[in-house]
Amino acid sequence: LMQLFRPLDMLGWVYRTIRQGLVDMAEMFRLMDTQVEVIDVPGAPALVADPPTVAFDNVVFGYDPERTILHGLSFEVPAGSRVAIVGPSGAGKSTIGRLLFRFYDPQAGRILIAGQDIAKVQQQSLREAIGIVPQDSVLFNDTLRYNIAYGREGASEGEILRAADDAAILPFIEKLPDGLETEVGERGLKLSGGEKQRVAIARTLLKGPPILLFDEATSALDSGTEQDILGTLQRVSRNHTTLAIAHRLSTISDADTILVLDDGHLEEQGRHADLLRRGGLYAEMWARQQAESEPTAEAAE
Ligand code: ATP
Repeated sequence: LMQLFRPLDMLGWVYRTIRQGLVDMAEMFRLMDTQVEVIDVPGAPALVADPPTVAFDNVVFGYDPERTILHGLSFEVPAGSRVAIVGPSGAGKSTIGRLLFRFYDPQAGRILIAGQDIAKVQQQSLREAIGIVPQDSVLFNDTLRYNIAYGREGASEGEILRAADDAAILPFIEKLPDGLETEVGERGLKLSGGEKQRVAIARTLLKGPPILLFDEATSALDSGTEQDILGTLQRVSRNHTTLAIAHRLSTISDADTILVLDDGHLEEQGRHADLLRRGGLYAEMWARQQAESEPTAEAAE
């Protein structure tokens, strides 16, 4: 009988997720390629994300039972702080984001927000508490207004403009003859990768979640745009608890704490300068990236 109910359950989940407008559609469909495995505990209470702390407590997780990806991972993100997760490719960085959004449950250990186990609260309330800025922001073939306001139904004009301003896209919008009514997407105005991402940031800010999860999109952006976006993110993340999944170390060197993940273990943890002094994995990755970025900088000139 459970076999019969699973697809129905999944449909319900899809519907709720779309209705909530919580995640970028492309990201959602990408995530849905993976099986949805979690359901609400009957009578689960709503999450109260106050103060918005995040903690992983001995989390063990693998997509397949034979292959463990996170081996008893523990870390804490204090309310209002900015924590970056770095590490070699395949270390498990994005997996942490997927677990926090509860696309999967850990096999052991707990993930806590404001002291509440996220496996025991209503998923809708969990997803309302977390705003994701995904790697590749996809816009709807509609107006800029629609694309930003999608973050929250019934947002006022002032709120939309403030979110656009905070995401540093307002000056760009104000220069367009049709302003917020400008059609974007395939048949409308083509936006650059950086502009698209700013619209996605505005959408997330309008939603106003206490916790932000940034999956850094460095590959799609040139380094000037990347620096601009980072400046924006640093500014907006001041009022939130932020987890940033970073592929380039230069972008997170001022984080409050940097978690260095290696093969699902927390290898090192600290601030940029401390980690450099330590001379471990982070220092090694930093040296490698510095060496790699030099020829690129020359080529760009
Ligand atoms: P990158 O920097 O390359 O994005 P990452 O540190 O974010 O890497 P994850 O995406 O978290 O790494 O992946 C960790 C491991 O889990 C990888 O070995 C990956 O192959 C595996 N993995 C990721 N998603 C799935 C999935 N849906 N099913 C099975 N294995 C997966």
